[in-house]
Amino acid sequence: MALIVQKYGGTSVADGARIGHVADKVCAARRAGHDLLVVVSAMAGETDRLLSLGKNISQRPNPRELDVLLATGEQVSIALLAIALEKRGLSACSFTGGQVCIRTDDAHTKARILAIDEDKLRDTLARGCIPVVAGFQGVDAAGNITTLGRGGSDTTAVALAAALKADECQIYTDVDGVYTTDPRMVPEARRLARITFEEMLELASLGSKVLQIRAVEFAGKYNVPLRVLSTFKEGAGTLITYEDTAVEAAIVSGIAFNRDEAEITLIGVPDVPGTAYRILGPVAAANIVVDMIVQNVARGGRLDFSFTIHRNDYPQTIDIMQANLRHIGAEQVVGNDRVVKISIVGVGMRSHAGVASSVFQALSEEDISIRMVATSEIKISVVVEEKHLELGVRTLHAAFRLHEPPQQDFLQRSAGASRRRGGITG
Ligand code: ADP
Ligand code: ASP
Ligand code: MG
Repeated sequence: MALIVQKYGGTSVADGARIGHVADKVCAARRAGHDLLVVVSAMAGETDRLLSLGKNISQRPNPRELDVLLATGEQVSIALLAIALEKRGLSACSFTGGQVCIRTDDAHTKARILAIDEDKLRDTLARGCIPVVAGFQGVDAAGNITTLGRGGSDTTAVALAAALKADECQIYTDVDGVYTTDPRMVPEARRLARITFEEMLELASLGSKVLQIRAVEFAGKYNVPLRVLSTFKEGAGTLITYEDTAVEAAIVSGIAFNRDEAEITLIGVPDVPGTAYRILGPVAAANIVVDMIVQNVARGGRLDFSFTIHRNDYPQTIDIMQANLRHIGAEQVVGNDRVVKISIVGVGMRSHAGVASSVFQALSEEDISIRMVATSEIKISVVVEEKHLELGVRTLHAAFRLHEPPQQDFLQRSAGASRRRGGITG
């Protein structure tokens, strides 16, 4: 008998009928002899609805109160699912984050889980009862309700799986696994049977919303077997795993994109020590996260300095730059808040040359100009104009032939075919 943590996302619990379907799935897993703990999100659209209720009253609601408001979404779903499970003859008990002591820091709306007191959950499981835990929420040391950032129910599930040393954490959603890119953007995208933690972490941090980044971090750190599956379609989904040869066969495993980018350039900055600090110090002081940074080689003692930020932070960052222009010594600040970032990710890039030039060639053939580039061992990100997002993603998806199974699968399949034909192995 295994202990399985199952998490069901917003679309999976969107209405009474879907909650009934989730309850049927939980019953089936129970009948198969497993111990289960279930984490649920708010019903689809509910967190957005609550957020706009708050924002209609104040543009900047107090984050503590926002968390009290947002956490109600998950409280509705846990009760409804527990009711549906009991109706099916199973013993179930709903818990808010606070009731099972999911302790977080006090960073409202983006809190981090610090500790989980698993005793209550273990007792509940020992009684043969299914705990149904609200995702996305916790409590800080002072007992205030906190939330974990959008998509945070994934993190709740993985953290509970880690604390209880569950045999598997299953993330049930509206797609049947992790795809080579968002299947809503590229219909030819292919489901990956496996992906490494490292690649998944990059994809999540570069904008792929199928798993919250902290969930992947947790799973990697605590070695939680993590699987993404569909609530609506049977199948093995995608296993997030440690590196293995099957995964290494692909140079590029996936493409992520982020629409919420903005770029700022300081023109004619003096090439003297401390320039980068004079530019970015005030940005950091305003709690604005800087992503890509590009500094040109100086000509005539001056250089251009560009960086990207979240689009929401654009007006404030422009104001900060304008206010500091003289202190920085720059001639001019220019910006563009209609840019996006497209990234290709794959552990196979470590051992292959020429991947970046393939990216540049493919984009240039479609007349897509690249505004910025950043690379790491296993990713290449480019910033392009917003209007080129879809074409850029599709072009790269096709250029790296991501719609086709990786070569190794080809070899295995052709070996199988040869066997059937009494070929090389027969
Ligand atoms: P849930 O509400 O179940 O948490 P999310 O909307 O957070 O679901 O995540 C699932 C969605 O993630 C999919 O509907 C899909 O559009 C999107 N997505 C983005 N990138 C990928 C990818 N590489 N593979 C699969 N889905 C992706
Ligand atoms: N309900 C929250 C959100 O919409 C958390 C989650 O769904 O994971 O972001
Ligand atoms: Mg999600």
